[in-house]
Amino acid sequence: MANYNDIESALIHGGIYGDKTTGAVNVPIYQTSTYEQTGIMENPVWEYSRTGNPTRRALEDLIAELEKGVRGFAFASGMAAIDAVVHLFKSGDEILVSSNVYGGTYRILDKVYKQLGIKAVAVDTSNLSDIEKAITDKTVALYIESPTNPLLTVTDLKAAAKIAKKHNLLTVVDNTFMTPYLQRPIELGADIVVHSATKYLGGHSDLVAGLAVVNSKELASKLAFYQNSVGAVLAPFDSFLLIRGIKTLAVRLDRHTQNAHKLAHFLRNHDAVSKVYYPGFEDAQGYEINKAQAKNGGAMISFVLDEKHDVKKFFKSLNLIALAESLGGVESLVCHPATMTHAAIPYDIRQELGITDSLVRLSVGIESFDDLKNDLQKAIKESEI
Ligand SMILES: *Cc1c(COP(=O)(O)O)cnc(C)c1O
Repeated sequence: MANYNDIESALIHGGIYGDKTTGAVNVPIYQTSTYEQTGIMENPVWEYSRTGNPTRRALEDLIAELEKGVRGFAFASGMAAIDAVVHLFKSGDEILVSSNVYGGTYRILDKVYKQLGIKAVAVDTSNLSDIEKAITDKTVALYIESPTNPLLTVTDLKAAAKIAKKHNLLTVVDNTFMTPYLQRPIELGADIVVHSATKYLGGHSDLVAGLAVVNSKELASKLAFYQNSVGAVLAPFDSFLLIRGIKTLAVRLDRHTQNAHKLAHFLRNHDAVSKVYYPGFEDAQGYEINKAQAKNGGAMISFVLDEKHDVKKFFKSLNLIALAESLGGVESLVCHPATMTHAAIPYDIRQELGITDSLVRLSVGIESFDDLKNDLQKAIKESEI
């Protein structure tokens, strides 16, 4: 293994580096379904690519190293990774879930697992006593996003994991919004980390992928069994693309978060904006906690346009910033959570959570800050009623 200490180097040299056979500095794309075996009953390392593939394994070892876990797993999407984790549980079990989790996570729990007998209970995990109160003798896991999507609510991961441990629950953290460059939940006590690698880890909006990392051999063998049994694995080419994306994570995120910091302040000082959600504000909910558990506030911002501006018109008036689902790519994207990412959540619950119709979510890219600011400025002006 190469000699390095810091995550900036691990992003590039971690996991399996290069190719021993040829000296290629990149792990080749092993585009094969099967492997010739030397004889029967000889325990081959590679037997079939659903079970294991060297390109995928390089990625899996890389994410395990970055998240400081025991083993990593790569899936065909973030939802496939989450699905695999939920399959560690059985009918009759209850999972406590952060109350404004990703819409797709809410949907799979509410529409797929509920009818299979696994019950999800939404709690405001940023309130530790709410977690404690919601635990029953059926609770098996605590599933957290911090910061949450789209309101960027911060949960104290260390304290939450401590409560979970006390009650024998597994702590699962969806680390998509922060990535291991900004936050490493396993170091804070989590048992499992999941990612939609479609977002910052891939980073170029050119791939859909999911990752999971576990902190014990026991969980590793359970998840490996499930991954192989169901087969929602990441293809070799996509594994290669994701390794390539991860190499530049640090430089990308430094720029993403710098731009976000400046844009959050620009929006906050703008008359047309009535509220800005950004964990990097010193007066934001959970600022001190986030500062202690993460490198910075990340690069996601949500804001509310005041009633003198037409949200529909605002989205139409943006020119550089694209209206699209997803986040975490080099290009800036905006979305309308109420009708897009969080449409699966019933209207009343959305209002309760604060996902109102005038809420805008911004994934800040790495373009010029001035160009991004000017685009927002122009769209706000044009959307005046
Ligand atoms: C996008 C996303 C997911 C789902 O991942 P896919 O790759 O789209 O399947 C899960 N959690 C969070 C926080 C996300 O942003």
